[in-house]
Amino acid sequence: MSDSGTNDAAVPAGWEVVIGLEVHAELATATKMFCGAPNQFGGEPNTNVDPVSLGLPGTLPVLNRKAVELAIRTGLALHCSVQRSIFARKNYFYPDMPKDYQISQYDQPINVDGWLELPDGTRIGIERAHLEEDTGKSTHMGGASGRIQDAGYSLVDYNRAGVPLLEIVGRPDLRSAEHARQYVSELRAILVAIGASDGKMEEGSMRVDANVSVRREGASEYGLRCEIKNVNSLRSLGRAIEYEARRQVDLIESGERVHQETRHWDEAAGVTRPGRSKEDAEDYRYFPEPDLVPVDPDPAWIDEIRAALPALPADRRHRLAEAASVEPGDVAIAVERELDDLALAAIVAGADATRVLTHVEHNLAVEGAEKLDPAAFAELVTMETGGELSATQTKQVLADMVATGKGPREIAAERGFEAMDTSELAATLDGIIAANADVWAELVAGDDKARKKKTGFFVGQVMQATKGQADGKVVNKLLAERIAAAG
Ligand code: ADP
Ligand code: MG
Repeated sequence: MSDSGTNDAAVPAGWEVVIGLEVHAELATATKMFCGAPNQFGGEPNTNVDPVSLGLPGTLPVLNRKAVELAIRTGLALHCSVQRSIFARKNYFYPDMPKDYQISQYDQPINVDGWLELPDGTRIGIERAHLEEDTGKSTHMGGASGRIQDAGYSLVDYNRAGVPLLEIVGRPDLRSAEHARQYVSELRAILVAIGASDGKMEEGSMRVDANVSVRREGASEYGLRCEIKNVNSLRSLGRAIEYEARRQVDLIESGERVHQETRHWDEAAGVTRPGRSKEDAEDYRYFPEPDLVPVDPDPAWIDEIRAALPALPADRRHRLAEAASVEPGDVAIAVERELDDLALAAIVAGADATRVLTHVEHNLAVEGAEKLDPAAFAELVTMETGGELSATQTKQVLADMVATGKGPREIAAERGFEAMDTSELAATLDGIIAANADVWAELVAGDDKARKKKTGFFVGQVMQATKGQADGKVVNKLLAERIAAAG
């Protein structure tokens, strides 16, 4: 992750890629945005519908208070200003949007001007996060590709029509595919932490459009951008951005121009392909939605929502990093695994931070870890750093602690894990040196690199002979003494 902020290999030296993401998140409400039909993924087609979600004439929208609350919650978590907002009609025709307009927000969105912090501390601006309704879903039948071009007929499912969406528009502050991926995973973690969305990209609860442009390094103007649709996973997002950036650089370098357009990511072929040319805002004929009043949330309500926010991933990274005296990026995995509270408590109880972080990142299954008593975990780590248990033994005891709930001393005693005394270890090592005299001679005669490699060999042999019970640090010390004596 150390070089994640730098350019991807996909663009040649001297070029910079600029990315701005638009993320649609389905809000985790019980019912739809403007009616009482259930907001539920899956289900038989056209079962979660009612006259409003079908856009039948004469129906009127009624705003879902919970959707507004979740939008405000998200806005606050993204450090946005929450403001008086109005709904607008965005007019366009889609068979899966029966009203032929989408109720959205346009020039007065509910949340504006926020930011999101990546694990390495980079802040990415959020332009706005506005409310709108989702469309239904078309399935194109009878053709090989599943695309409308070669379909015999299409089926429409309105279960999703009217599901509340928050469109989170990021500023063009991202400079690499890796950072773009981190942005989406951070946003997802925030949405899940605050209960605003389930964040499932595979179920379409979170959908990402990537705006990508390139420019020569040092240029002050942005280049013309393409908007890539149909990116369904973090992996596709990274691939699509890298492909698109390269394509644009190649175009410009061969004297051509980038056309501002919508493109689709073809996962199988690994390319983006042109779609419709991008509409301008005026094409949508936005106008204020006459059937809904402005949303002007009471400041007291906003304060209440703010007060109820849980600790966010970035706050949790900062808190743990400070306790461990490391950078926030170094504890990202612990927070991602939601083992940061455990780690923090163990460190506060006096356990060595580096070992604690290693265990929560690598040696602890997430399932069951909530059963672990932080004090007992801290005691285990202290046994390890005090030389009572080897690294391998510590891992085994840790697994037993999770499985049985017993304390580390009890388990270590049961398993017969007693610290090997140094003289016993020295005798084992001397035996191994004698048995591998040729390797030992090469080690003593070798340069630093050879010494390092051969030292690893002897440590490995001792570990094997002691079934992992030897303390690696002690073995290394004994080896160093013997090398010094021989050289
Ligand atoms: P539109 O009105 O067409 O939706 P916006 O200006 O609102 O355009 O920007 C939409 C998205 O495009 C935002 O996420 C923004 O960060 C991104 N964006 C804008 N300009 C660029 C650019 N030159 N390169 C990459 N992304 C951009
Ligand atoms: Mg847009």
